[in-house]
Amino acid sequence: MRTLIKVLRFNLSFSNLKSISLFRKMADNKLYDILGVTRNSSDNEIKKQYRKLAKEFHPDKNPEAGDKFKEISYAYEVLSDPKKRATYDKFGLKGMQEGAHDGFGGDDLLSHLFGGGLFGGFGGFGGGGGGGGMRRRQRGEDTIHPLKVTLEDMYNGKTSKLQLSKNVICATCAGKGSKSGLTEKCHTCNGCGLKVTFRQIAPGMAQQTQSRCPDCQGEGETIKDKDRCTSCRGKKVCNETKIIEVHVDKGMKENQKIFFRGEGDQQPDVEAGDVVIILQQKPNEQFQRNGNDLHVKHSLSLTEALCGFSFILHHLDGRDILIKQPAGEVVKPGDIKAVIGEGMPIYKNPFEKGNLYVAFEIKFPEDHFTSEANLKALETLLPPRPEFTMPIGDHVEEVDLHEFDPNDRSSHSGRGEAYASDDEDQMHGPGIHRCATQ
Ligand SMILES: [Zn+2]
Ligand SMILES: [Zn+2]
Repeated sequence: MRTLIKVLRFNLSFSNLKSISLFRKMADNKLYDILGVTRNSSDNEIKKQYRKLAKEFHPDKNPEAGDKFKEISYAYEVLSDPKKRATYDKFGLKGMQEGAHDGFGGDDLLSHLFGGGLFGGFGGFGGGGGGGGMRRRQRGEDTIHPLKVTLEDMYNGKTSKLQLSKNVICATCAGKGSKSGLTEKCHTCNGCGLKVTFRQIAPGMAQQTQSRCPDCQGEGETIKDKDRCTSCRGKKVCNETKIIEVHVDKGMKENQKIFFRGEGDQQPDVEAGDVVIILQQKPNEQFQRNGNDLHVKHSLSLTEALCGFSFILHHLDGRDILIKQPAGEVVKPGDIKAVIGEGMPIYKNPFEKGNLYVAFEIKFPEDHFTSEANLKALETLLPPRPEFTMPIGDHVEEVDLHEFDPNDRSSHSGRGEAYASDDEDQMHGPGIHRCATQ
């Protein structure tokens, strides 16, 4: 059992209103009865009554009171919080239990306190804890494992073996932690698992804080050194290595989760959490995936772009795909073309596939790739030049074109200096020296 501190963090946001409505008729007055107040009692009356009872039943003063103190504390936790009180008024204890969605501690304390003999069960919802937060037992944390897979694995499907190390209930002591099966009540907390401190913050005003008992880790009981189970050394669980088979199905995606229900760490009286495998795709050199579609880049020569092409794409399942374009169709730089149905298989429907998109890049020939005579001949084959007439007059100036690389810093600064010296000549005359600022 965890500490009451956990319980204070009850999440009362009811995400599952459908199942909550089942409990509408189950509202009750039990928490009011515990504090000896009524539904109509004011916050102040509830606080007063709680203080009185908390002192009376505090385990330090009244070790025989058993769970009474925990019940009082819980009742006060709920009734002193307007939100929780409203929820309780509407849905009763069962509603509070249902509300404990997020934490794993709430259910347990509630059923421990109220599910047992004291109030007679309010259950009747069958075991098994299906979805929708109908859990009745405390549940352990999930164990998360990333699993790196290739895009090929996600395309073709794959079974991976994964070695897990997990805690299992000690077989020697059946999870009791002791040889005799006996435990002692923790002396520090007197068995309640909580460390409760009252602190006077002003005359007549005390603040109460609760934390997990440090000596028994909130369990309320300890085991004598001599009596400790030798296999688990009193820890109640042992470490075990287990191999699980992870089926990566066709079409599964990055970050998709594969659940192994109940394969998480075991603890006594706790429902084991799940092992959750999260798929992580290793980068693929050729293909980029976007949902069910695949993207590749392909570089064509200018000749191919103008005169048609064929090329082989080695696909993720080992097939060689022939992609071709007949002469007559022209590919321009940046063109994207689709191969329908050659993308990723669709998860759970692997006979359907997304599309494959090919983005084309055109490689132009190098300078002087052929003779001037050939260029003249080539020109006769290509579409005609746009018309050009040379203007005449003093305003006409001929300039040189230079190679320019926008990523090359030296070509930037070269240009900057040229401008600076221009300024010098025109604005300040030749005698004045200015530093180029770039
Ligand atoms: Zn203790
Ligand atoms: Zn053991």
